[in-house]
Amino acid sequence: PSERRKRPDWLRVKLPAGPEFRKVRQLVDNYKLHTICESGSCPNMGECWGAGTATFMILGNVCTRSCSFCAVATGRPNEYDADEPRRVAEAIKLMQVKHAVITSVNRDELKDRGAEIWYQTVVQVKQNTPETTIETLIPDVKNNWDALIRMIEGGQEVVSHNMETVERLYRGVRPQAKYVRSLEQIRRTKEYGQRTKSGIMLGLGETVEEVYKAMDDLVENGLDILTLGQYLQPTKMHHEVIEWITPEMFENYKQEGLRRGLKYVESGPLVRSSYHAERHVNVPI
Ligand code: SF4
Ligand code: SF4
Repeated sequence: PSERRKRPDWLRVKLPAGPEFRKVRQLVDNYKLHTICESGSCPNMGECWGAGTATFMILGNVCTRSCSFCAVATGRPNEYDADEPRRVAEAIKLMQVKHAVITSVNRDELKDRGAEIWYQTVVQVKQNTPETTIETLIPDVKNNWDALIRMIEGGQEVVSHNMETVERLYRGVRPQAKYVRSLEQIRRTKEYGQRTKSGIMLGLGETVEEVYKAMDDLVENGLDILTLGQYLQPTKMHHEVIEWITPEMFENYKQEGLRRGLKYVESGPLVRSSYHAERHVNVPI
């Protein structure tokens, strides 16, 4: 049976529809933008787009990496589009987005890792709609710490970098990333004075103890906000779902995370790193 047929009831969600959904759809198309909602076949599209929220993906829709859970195409990306920050800012204004989540593919081939486009996007959104709060879900800068600072100095309220999984599973899940390097990126983001956030997908074969260890490592490196959600397989070519984590177990992880020193934990089967993101802006730094 297909993965979709085996999905437990708590993961069945309504199909997207409605006028607000269509408005977002049209803007995304007209402005030639990409969203991780679509690229990642996110199960919350009905809810988020229906409420006028989307997660924009900048720097193109081809990634230099090949994480085994991710539906974004791998390859050599085209030249980047210097006009993209302006179009993202326009779309956010027209959509009257109160809280914008922006992410990007990895651009390992660019010397600055795409940091200038990141910076321009944040600055232009803030110029166009100063009341809009911003979360930037940034890629692994691969030790280019100058690029990291440029990505996070534009005035956004939250800076995320997703660990995605526990240390032991990195090779199979995030082959071009390193667990300790991602921790260091979070630590440096915190040292810069930012509100830090990360996400881990569950159901990839990790043990409970390994999740606790990741929580401890994150607390030690200055993480404020953690999201935990069920991994779903985008296509048969991607990493298998090893386990369906129950809603009770998600609740348990939430309590454990708070006990271990995280300030805020969003944990549930349908949680994605951008889910309920507007709530994270007020977490004290
Ligand atoms: Fe898009 Fe995030 Fe909402 Fe999913 S949870 S639809 S990726 S904004
Ligand atoms: Fe997908 Fe990000 Fe990995 Fe690229 S780096 S394959 S966009 S998860």
